[in-house]
Amino acid sequence: MTRCRICGLEKRAEIDAALILGRPLRVISKEFGVRRSTLHRHSRHVRGQAEKAIQRVTLEYSKHLRQSMAQVQKATLEILESAKRGGDRELALRAAEQARQNTECMRKLLSRTAEPKVNQKRNPGTPELVVEYEGAAHVA
Ligand SMILES: [Zn+2]
Repeated sequence: MTRCRICGLEKRAEIDAALILGRPLRVISKEFGVRRSTLHRHSRHVRGQAEKAIQRVTLEYSKHLRQSMAQVQKATLEILESAKRGGDRELALRAAEQARQNTECMRKLLSRTAEPKVNQKRNPGTPELVVEYEGAAHVA
């Protein structure tokens, strides 16, 4: 339902890339033959799509990390059980400590990736998009 002149252009991807890279509007305007005001309006559409793409990637990444951590924890608990059955107290203690660390790591991971938030800022005077996001799946 948008009447944006750029959204329907064949060269939209190239224009979007130029906007994301922060190239000056006057340069993009000249190169693609579109008015600066139209580019300025269109830059909002680019931000919306970038935000959705980042959220999709972030969710996929956190899902992958959670699955990996679940596998690590499962293997650790198997080692713990095996060590207990075999009477290897030292290995059992080490596995129990590792399981505790895995749990802590998962707790941090879940707290940081449960609801990814995407903040986008626009530098004044340029269409440059500065994307920052909280909830990055950083596990310390
Ligand atoms: Zn547009």
